[in-house]
Order: sequence, then C-alpha cells, then structure tokens
Amino acid sequence: MKKIAFIGLGNMGAPMALNLVKAGNEVAVFDLVSAAMDPVVEAGARGALSAADAVAGAQVVISMLPASQHVESLYLGDDGLLARIADGALVIDCSTIAPQSARKVAQAALARGLEMVDAPVSGGTGGAIAGTLTFIVGGEDAVFERARPILALMGKNIFHAGAAGAGQVAKIANNMMLGIQMAGAAEALALGVANGLDPAVLSDIISKSSGRNWAFELYNPWPGVMESAPAARGYAGGFGVDLMLKDLGLAAEAAMGSRAVVPLGELARNLYALHSAQGNGKLDFSSIVNLIRKG
Ligand code: NAD
Repeated sequence: MKKIAFIGLGNMGAPMALNLVKAGNEVAVFDLVSAAMDPVVEAGARGALSAADAVAGAQVVISMLPASQHVESLYLGDDGLLARIADGALVIDCSTIAPQSARKVAQAALARGLEMVDAPVSGGTGGAIAGTLTFIVGGEDAVFERARPILALMGKNIFHAGAAGAGQVAKIANNMMLGIQMAGAAEALALGVANGLDPAVLSDIISKSSGRNWAFELYNPWPGVMESAPAARGYAGGFGVDLMLKDLGLAAEAAMGSRAVVPLGELARNLYALHSAQGNGKLDFSSIVNLIRKG
C-alpha cells in the first residue's frame, strides 16, 4: 500500500486513479473541476482542496493533465508542486506533452532531489478503465524500475523508451500514426458507403485484410458499426479532437526541430484543425469521419 497523489481526473485520469484505489492504495486526488473527483472519491479516495494538499505526505505523485503548459505550471515556479512534494517521493507525469517540457520538469525535479519519469499512455479511455494501458516511459533505468510496479496497477505493457523525454517522443510518433490512420479509416469507409457498401460489412472485410488497423479493430469511426466505440455515443468522451490536434502539433514541432519529413502527419494535423475550427474540438477524434463523409 502506498500513499499516492493523483492530479488531473479527466477522461483518462479518473479511471486510472480508480484502479489505484481498487488496488488498495491510499489515494488523494485533485482536479480544478471538483465534480471530476466525485467518482474516485466515492470509491474511497480523499478529495483534496488543492494540488499542494493532495501531495502532502505522498510517496508517489502522478499527474494526467491536458498539455505542456498545464504540467509546467503545476510543477514549476515558486508556487509549483516540486517545492511541496515530500523528500524521496517519486513523480510520474502521464500527460502527453512536448519532450522538451518533460525534460525541463524532470531536470527541475532532479535539482530538487526528486526522481521523475515521463510516462505517457496509449490505449484510450477503454484501456484506462480496464487497467490495460500501455505506458511509454522516459527516465533513468533505476527510476523506471521504481515506477514500474505503480504503472502495472494501471496498465499491461510498460516500455522504457530511453532517457527523460524519450517516452514523449515515442508517444508523439505513435499518435501521429494514429491520427493518420483514423483519417484514412474514415476515408476508406466514406468511399465504400458512397459506392453502395454497408459500412459494417466493409469494416469486417478491412479488419481481416491488409488495410486492417486499430481504428477498424477497436475504434471504428462509423456510427452503428461498433457498440463500444465513441461513434456509438455521438462521439462523446474518448480522445478529443483538440487533444489529437495538440499531439499532431507536437509531432510537427519535433519534426521541425530535427528536420524529419512528416507530410502525412502535417496533412492529418490540418484536417483535425479544420474539424476543430468547425466546432468539434471536444468530440472524440474519430468524428473526423464527419468532415469526410458525404451528408
Ligand atoms: P481531459 O481534458 O479529459 O482531462 C484533463 C483534466 O485535467 C481535466 O479534468 C482538467 O480539469 C484537469 N486539470 C487541468 N489543469 C489542472 C491543474 N492545474 N490541476 C488539476 N487539474 C487540472 O484529458 P484526458 O483525455 O484525460 O487526457 C489527459 C492527457 O492524456 C492528455 O495529455 C492527453 O493527450 C493524454 N491521452 C489521452 C487519451 C484519451 O483517450 N483521452 C489517450 C492517451 C493519452
């Protein structure tokens, strides 16, 4: 049993924190939106009054926030959490953020004498609920080993990508692939339907043919094809268009910094930007099919 502080209880953070409670840990939670804490508090966590209150006495601090600016402002600065976390505690940031932000916060943690890893996740809200997330970790070997048993309470596959920030680089590359793949799945389905095919039949065919991918197997974007996918509930919940847009922006930044060539990633980023500009930023990213389909 560990004393764990969990900051950021959104679509991903809440079910992750719930799994830590279920595993018998003493969990304190904090989110700027107090209602977001309710399901975890009902399960037995302590609802803290502030992030500083949540981390008081914690042996492990976990954060799951939207983007780089939220993570930097949470941890850094005179009022930042790094100044308040107990000596010897382990800090794990599971948010998807820029690799340079992850390195900056990890270095500041080290300067304060705290060990930290970046541990972004893959697997979506379904994986967070089921405790089967993939964690992609950046940090020193020994710190990775320290984080592993905690991450194992929330996930199934735990990878060590390299030094601080490496988890973020791997995660960004994965999500660029995902964004491209989902737009491609939407395009293939729209093409089939426009030419008279049943989307469920076409999905079944592609799932067992060379075009198969995660979108067809687990996250079909076409409504009515897959009961468990966000498409079945009006694209509510899941992984937001604006979060995908953020990740494709991180990929573009990383590509500019390294002169990597990412034409499909850039095209996908523009498609999600257009979709977001049309008022769909909060919907699940598989709603990109609505930008592409006819009528
Ligand atoms: P979300 O927007 O649902 O949740 C973020 C939560 O953080 C919100 O409840 C917000 O109120 C809270 N928050 C923001 N700033 C805070 C602060 N300073 N203190 C306390 N709480 C604060 O986002 P999400 O879908 O849970 O995603 C979180 C991260 O995980 C993102 O970086 C995202 O890219 C990544 N991610 C999401 C998914 C997914 O399927 N949703 C999958 C993999 C990775």
